[in-house]
Formats: sequence, C-alpha cells, structure tokens
Amino acid sequence: MSSPEPGAGKNFIEEIIDADNASGKHGGRVHTRFPPEPNGYLHIGHAKSICVNFGLAQQYGGKCNLRFDDTNPEKEDTEFTDSIQEDVRWLGFTWDGLYYTSDYYQQLHDFAVDLINKGLAYVDHLSPEQIREYRGTLKEPGKPSPYRDRSVDENLALFAQMKAGELDEGSCVLRAKIDMSAPNVMMRDPALYRIKKAHHHRTGNDWCIYPMYDFAHGLSDAIEGITHSICTLEFENNRPLYDWFLQAVETKHRPQQIEFAKLKLNYTVMSKRNLRVMVEEGIVDGWDDPRFPTIRGMRRRGYTPAAIRNFCDDIGVSKNNSTIDIGKLEHAVREDLDKVCPRVMVVLDPIKVVIDNYPGDLVEMLTAKNHPSDEAMGTRQVPFSREVYIDRDDFMEDPPKKFFRLAPGKEVRLRYGYIIKCESVEKDDDGHVTTLHCTYDPDTKGKNPSDGRKVKGTIHWVSAAHAVSAPIRNYDRLFKDEEPDSEDFRRSLNPDSVVVNQDARMEPSVLDLAAGDSVQFERKGYYVVDTKDSKDKAPVFNRVVGLRDSWANMVKKGNVN
Ligand code: ATP
Ligand code: MG
Repeated sequence: MSSPEPGAGKNFIEEIIDADNASGKHGGRVHTRFPPEPNGYLHIGHAKSICVNFGLAQQYGGKCNLRFDDTNPEKEDTEFTDSIQEDVRWLGFTWDGLYYTSDYYQQLHDFAVDLINKGLAYVDHLSPEQIREYRGTLKEPGKPSPYRDRSVDENLALFAQMKAGELDEGSCVLRAKIDMSAPNVMMRDPALYRIKKAHHHRTGNDWCIYPMYDFAHGLSDAIEGITHSICTLEFENNRPLYDWFLQAVETKHRPQQIEFAKLKLNYTVMSKRNLRVMVEEGIVDGWDDPRFPTIRGMRRRGYTPAAIRNFCDDIGVSKNNSTIDIGKLEHAVREDLDKVCPRVMVVLDPIKVVIDNYPGDLVEMLTAKNHPSDEAMGTRQVPFSREVYIDRDDFMEDPPKKFFRLAPGKEVRLRYGYIIKCESVEKDDDGHVTTLHCTYDPDTKGKNPSDGRKVKGTIHWVSAAHAVSAPIRNYDRLFKDEEPDSEDFRRSLNPDSVVVNQDARMEPSVLDLAAGDSVQFERKGYYVVDTKDSKDKAPVFNRVVGLRDSWANMVKKGNVN
C-alpha cells in the first residue's frame, strides 16, 4: 500500500508521520514496535495495536519489531512468548526484529549507573507507603526524601549492593532525581529499579534488580531505533518522563511516543484479570473458548484474520475513548466469510417431508453451487430422494399473507431441485407437526413451471436417507449487558451464551470438511468445524455468526434488556 494523497482521509498518527517525513525528523524512516508483556494471551485490543503498528510499517515501507516487555519476572513465561508469536503470525504479520527487554538488562543497568554519575538518580530507603505519602497529590507538591541528596559514590555503592543481592526486597529502590513539585506527578522522582529476587524465564537468576516500565520502555525503543512508539492514552502523562529519560541518558536516537485510544467493545470483558478468573473457575472452556475476546478464542470461533484486520482498519484510530459496538466486528466477520465460505445445506430443526409421488427407490444427484457468485468454487452433488427434511420455520400451517415458504396447499422450490406442494399434515397427539405429505412437479427441476405459475420461495433441505448428524454449538455473546459489571462481571454473564443443537440434519458433504474449515449453512449462518473437539468424520460445529444481526433486532423488539 502506498501513502495516499497528503491529508486524504489520514488519521492523526499518519499525519504525524507525514510531517516527520517531510521535516526529515527520523531521516524519513518509520520503525514501530508491538510491545506485549508476556503475561497472558493476546485479545482483540492487542489485535488493534498489532494492526496499527504493523500496518503503519507496511504502509510507509518501514519496519515493525515484536518486543516482549518482560520486566515482571513472576508473571511472565515462555508459554506466553510462544502463544503471542503464534497469534501475531496468525493475524498475518511478520516482525522485522524479535527482541526482549531482558536483552537490554545490562545496557539499562549501565544507563542507570550513568544517571547516578550525572547526579540524576539516587537510592531511596523510604518504604513504599512513605514514598506514596512524600509524592504529594495533584493539588499539593511532594517533598524530598531524606535520601535524595546522597553523594554519587554512596549511590553507586548502594546500587551495586542492590544488584549483588545484598539488600532485601522492598528495602530500597533506585529513583530518578527530577522534580518533587512537578505539576505532573509522574515526574516526582519515579522509580527506575526495584529489587526482586525472582527467577526470570530468560535471564534465570542473573538479576535481582528489575527496571521499571517507564525507564525500560523508552530506552528500549531508543536502542532498537524505533521512530514512533505508539501506545494507549493512559500513558499520555508518562510522555514527559519518556522524553526525560532519553534526554538524561543522551541517547543517540530519540524516538517519540504517540498515544491513541484503547479499543473497548461493548458486551465484552477484556481485562486479563477477569479473563483469568473465568478460565480458572471453568466459566469458559479455556483461553481459546470460542466466546472469548482472545485471539485464540476468536480463531477457534471461526473469525478470520482478514475479518479482524478489516475491523481494526474500519474503526480507525482516535484520540478519544469510546466504546465500539461488537456488531461491527461481527459484521466484518460476516463480510469476509461471505466471500470465502462454501455453502452447504443443513436443516437445524427438522420436519420430515414425504414426497408421495416420487419413486421410493430413486436417488438423484443434484448439482449444487458451492458459492452463489464465485464460480471458481465449483459445484458438488447432493443426493435427493423421496423423503427429505426441511426446517420447521420454513413451514406454517396457517401462514400470513407474505409467507412464501411451505404451507398446506402451497408450493415452494427445494433448492437445486423441484417444486413441491404440501398436500397434508401429520401431527402427533399433542398437535405437534411430525410429517408433511407433498407432491412434486417432475417438470420443474432447474426450471420454472411451464404453465407460467409463480413460485416465489426457495428453501433448503436434506435427503433423509443420506443425512448425517453432528452437534452444533450455537454461541452467543458471553455477556448480556452492554457494559458488563466491572465489579462483578458474573452478574452480567449471558446464561444462554452456548446452546447445543443435537437435532440438525446435514448433507453428507460436511463429512469431508477438515477441522478449522468454515462453511455457510445456507440461509442460516456461518459455522466452523471445531479444531479441538472434532474427530475425523465426526465434526463438531461452532456457530461463527448468523447471517443477519439478530441481536440488534431483538434489542429493538425489547426482548433483551
Ligand atoms: P491487558 O491488561 O488488557 O491484557 P496490557 O496493556 O496490560 O493489556 P500489554 O501486553 O502491556 O497488555 O500490551 C501490549 C500492547 O498492546 C501495548 O502497546 C498496549 O498499549 C496495547 N493494547 C493493550 N490493550 C489494548 C486495547 N484495548 N486497545 C489498543 N491497544 C491495546
Ligand atoms: Mg500491561
């Protein structure tokens, strides 16, 4: 993708980059990074950040690194570095460099020593509570720690002791010496290093001091030659600190931080903490539960990388926080699946139809299109015989005027086959329709009746003798509230977020699908063969998304609160 006309429909980040390129600020380079902390699985919010960072690099012919921001040893693990790489690749992106903040531990340590030597950092023995108290508030300035004016030598010696493991966890921290009365509280002598005698998944027990996010992040950007360090809005107040570190350390390269609004979706909980609780309490079936907003959940649900990327592009980037309607994501999924999914016929809630004038021993193979408009997807043969199933909602005993499906005395076309007419209805003792008796018009296979009569409706069907069965998991939103209760998300859970259908009857071609394949059940929706629970010739289907936005309609009708 080349950059479009200057200013044409550009977002504010592109405008910044254009201006930088025009002024030669970074020598015309664009180098971004996606910097996850490897402490969990990626979710749709991360996907947004991935699309922004990798997307800008692609758009400007630049580069994008994947950097693991691994400075909290207790929470991080290689399980997550592996899964994050897999998820980024699955979304369709390839990083230029793969780095870890822990690659820079020695360099960052040396930067800290440099700051001590410059009189810009000191070891503080105040307790965490005292540090908080001394920091002041938004209205009141902070006050200096009694340890603030230690000599350089004393600070060097103490920092060396911290590093050597001679001091206890929590006994002291290394702080930047900036300004205890700065209006921006972030600038009131933030911590650079704390003691943590923890095993790190990469550096083992080499270190017992670990750098703080603000110190490590910008300097890692500088080391990697990042030009535009894109993060979310809550880091806006950290930007002066980001710049201060670059200036104080006198890095050769000076990246710039740019903030944009986090992606927030309605009916969705994204915080790692709450997702973890749901996994641990068995509310969902693991981190890849098809109802989860994790990338692996969406993948198992049958969402496609292209759909997620298109969604992220469509919503754009903004400086203001807002909530995006999850219907937009579902819309993007539907649009992509419509293009790529072959069609099959599946009856979800069957009623039997007996075609009384069709020969009992005859089976015809009817030619069905795999896609209504993409000829390249070819055709398949679907068996047709005297007894077929149709969906219960394609029949009405006493239909309203505009019902163009099957009803007593009325005609309908069976997709790819004949026109049939409903002659009589069989019911059980409860008055429940069990079987429809029909006749077919042999002269209507793939053509209109020769006498000119009009038959408007076409319905899908499955030959009873050839039908196969497989469970279908009908997924819905995990939360029934537009804004799930942040205190207790359990109160907002949708009790019907998965309903399993064991009754469906499917055309036999579904047995040829492989795990992960998606199809459209004609007139019903998109379904994917579950990658975890399916076996060869025994698929389990997940509903990806319906054909239409039924949720919006229900809300409109007032059936959902
Ligand atoms: P969470 O706690 O929700 O998992 P996080 O911010 O702790 O998110 P990180 O691993 O630190 O997760 O994030 C990696 C990158 O993804 C950061 O640049 C962060 O700003 C970005 N990111 C995380 N959540 C969102 C979101 N909802 N929208 C856009 N970007 C996000
Ligand atoms: Mg984080």
